[in-house]
Amino acid sequence: MPTTPCPCGTGEAYDACCGPLLANTVQATCPEQLMRSRYTANVRGDADHLFRTWHPRTRPDDVAPDPAIRWTGLRVLAAEGDTVEFVASWDGGSMHEVSRFEQRAGRWVYVDGDVT
Ligand SMILES: [Zn+2]
Repeated sequence: MPTTPCPCGTGEAYDACCGPLLANTVQATCPEQLMRSRYTANVRGDADHLFRTWHPRTRPDDVAPDPAIRWTGLRVLAAEGDTVEFVASWDGGSMHEVSRFEQRAGRWVYVDGDVT
């Protein structure tokens, strides 16, 4: 059976990486893992996963990823405590963000981030 490489760039197969998180059968054990799964959700247009993993306090009403953006890669630069610094690229640009995460009822959720 062919395996699909995970879009988040770990080199793992999708089914062994972000797949179970997007399917909501496994929960992220650290902010980096959650951040990677949220990138993958953007790639795959999975609004449910983005909604589920966004803190209700900061979550916008519409979390659907923009289908016009074609994501091309993710680079995690640092993951310390409850923050993850990364560069996410699409064809035509990239963004550098330090994201903040929080544990809520035992699950990591995205709070907000500083884009530079
Ligand atoms: Zn992944």
